[in-house]
Amino acid sequence: MNKYLNQLVKLSEINKEIDAFEPRVQKIEKSISVAFEKAKNANDSVDLLDVEIKEAKLKKAKNESLLAELSEKLKSIGKKSSAIKSEKEVKALQLEEDLAKEQCDFANEEIARFEKIIELKESEKTKAKELYLELQKAAEELNISIEREREAIEEEMAAAYAKKSELVGAMSQKILSFYEKIRKWAHNSAVVPVRKQACYGCFMRINDKTNALVAGSEDIITCPHCGRILYKEAAQS
Ligand SMILES: [Zn+2]
Repeated sequence: MNKYLNQLVKLSEINKEIDAFEPRVQKIEKSISVAFEKAKNANDSVDLLDVEIKEAKLKKAKNESLLAELSEKLKSIGKKSSAIKSEKEVKALQLEEDLAKEQCDFANEEIARFEKIIELKESEKTKAKELYLELQKAAEELNISIEREREAIEEEMAAAYAKKSELVGAMSQKILSFYEKIRKWAHNSAVVPVRKQACYGCFMRINDKTNALVAGSEDIITCPHCGRILYKEAAQS
């Protein structure tokens, strides 16, 4: 393989390596953000339970004050009953008393119901809080362990860029800009091997003449179909 082509193959490999870093970094960042998101969701459910507990407590308190009012009312009914005489008035007062007692029963049932709700939600909240703390800790640990991986990627990246700049410095500007022009549309398949007499970029068969040139020419040969730079792999040439 001629020197220029050899440089292009190397440069193309380094560019592929460099482009592979970003997805790796993104994968790491994604896993961290997923872990923190899970912890945040757990914390949100603690907050939601807090709101529900507050609401239940408020409703319980309303029923308690209603119960206090009703008990005052029953006391005053008791007082009135000693002062009235007529049958009609006794009946009316009796009705009022029955109604107040019914309301008392209902308020007591409601208080018991809300107490159960509060108890249940408190125990749910304790569990949710534990889960949140667990998930938050896991996310922080993941963040620390991944930090090392991130540093390793950065080191690899720096090495790849150093390799690239050394290679680019040694290359012909003309060939370099020719390669970059193709790379604009072909991206990391600007330099491709010929396998089974086909361009490995567009997968079209190349003619015998081009095939022979790729194998032996000192010029840079491009695919007659797509324009990518072609080379013969060492093992197959
Ligand atoms: Zn092609």
